[in-house]
Amino acid sequence: DQHKFQAIISHCKEYGFVFQSSEIYDGLSAVYDYGQYGAELKKNIRDYWWKSMTQMHENIVGIDAAIFMHPTTWKASGHVDNFSDPMIDNKDSKKRYRVDHLIEAHAETLAPATADALLQQMNELLKENDFAGLKQLIETNNIKCAVSGTNNWTEVRQFNLMFSTQLGSVSDEASEIYLRPETAQGIFVNFLNVQKTGRMKIPFGIAQVGKAFRNEIVARQFIFRMREFEQMEMQFFIRPGSQKEWYAYWKEERMKWHLSLGTQPERYRFKDHEKLAHYADAAVDIEYEFPIGFKEVEGIHSRTDFDLKNHQEYSRKKLQYFDPETNQNYIPYVIETSIGLDRMFLLTVCNAYEEQDLSTPEKQDSRVVLKFPPRLAPIKLAIFPLTKKDGLPEIARELMDQCKSSFYCFYEEKDAIGKRYRRQDAIGTPFCVTIDHQTKEDNTVTIRYRDSMEQERIPMAQVRERVLQAVL
Ligand code: ATP
Repeated sequence: DQHKFQAIISHCKEYGFVFQSSEIYDGLSAVYDYGQYGAELKKNIRDYWWKSMTQMHENIVGIDAAIFMHPTTWKASGHVDNFSDPMIDNKDSKKRYRVDHLIEAHAETLAPATADALLQQMNELLKENDFAGLKQLIETNNIKCAVSGTNNWTEVRQFNLMFSTQLGSVSDEASEIYLRPETAQGIFVNFLNVQKTGRMKIPFGIAQVGKAFRNEIVARQFIFRMREFEQMEMQFFIRPGSQKEWYAYWKEERMKWHLSLGTQPERYRFKDHEKLAHYADAAVDIEYEFPIGFKEVEGIHSRTDFDLKNHQEYSRKKLQYFDPETNQNYIPYVIETSIGLDRMFLLTVCNAYEEQDLSTPEKQDSRVVLKFPPRLAPIKLAIFPLTKKDGLPEIARELMDQCKSSFYCFYEEKDAIGKRYRRQDAIGTPFCVTIDHQTKEDNTVTIRYRDSMEQERIPMAQVRERVLQAVL
């Protein structure tokens, strides 16, 4: 529900996870900055993905390609001609809409059967690129612009989502380049470099994490749809004809990855694509149930040999693989897994966010807790001396020194312990340790668990091991 979603957005800002970009200048639309805890959470998600893909798969390696690429790349990939969304303007309100989003929003107000029929009609028109038909569909269904309530529209146009800029100081047509709208192409153009230098044998994969840019027509819903975002993509190169089998394999493998983070399975679902992208012969989304409904977090696409074949044609460089098992040369087929890091971040926060009423008959009480999987939590351990004196801070510092090279620790000596615990709950720290006067006697400390709020007395010498076990 919208209320919970708004609460999560506020929480992200209040606790240093996500800020509007250039906020002091009133922000830049659909661009965001990650704060001190957000950057840490994002890094942990990225690292977990990277490790699962590369370190845990002997036949997948990672690269880091540039954002700028030769402009012909985007001709060959089809992005110059095809990477666009249909757009329409309302003449009265001067508001701009993505046609499919406008119709989908309207469908949500209809009875299920009517909505389905409308969406099916829309998908057929989109497939045919029938712009006049789309406009008619909007008009005959009397789809009104939310703001002014009028049904007075311009024609439908294609709007290319790529940002362009000039390379070097001479501005002529030849120097116009694009900010990459996906990271995948940096993998395709390096396919042979990696295959040869890494002596890779098919099937093998190349993984990459990096920024991508799309001039989204209408950017909505916080970091769900941004104009600058980060993707984690993996292209898996296979023998032609084996795509069905590998597509099924990666569908399952990727769902396992999501579930390995402890999310309840019923919050996830697969959704087959109605309208296939220009490069795909099969495509499915992994959707998660955000407070605003089921939405895409990841796409798994069977891309055939579309990309490599086109790069071979445009570059006139052979992009073939010699298969020693079959003694044949061929252009490999590709299965892609593509997940948005920012969307995975939003998923992680939404899934972790809980408002708890802790009231007792004597006292009203509540807390907001982020129940992150410990391996993703920005801070793993908070260390609190009970008071600022009696040598307790010194012991706490000793524990900091034992732990801080292994995982992220946080030291705090201000305020009552209860207040300190609540602040750590709000940023999702799984463990807090308090050093008190008894520590001086017997070297034990109180460890407090975020989710159960239970406390336990353990030897200080066991703290590091205890936390390490949970976060690795
Ligand atoms: P949509 O149809 O919603 O525009 P898409 O199907 O074009 O998205 P893909 O091209 O498959 O998206 O991109 C792969 C992944 O990259 C998506 O699953 C999503 O997690 C992420 N992604 C795509 N666009 C954005 C964006 N504007 N902001 C944040 N993440 C994005």
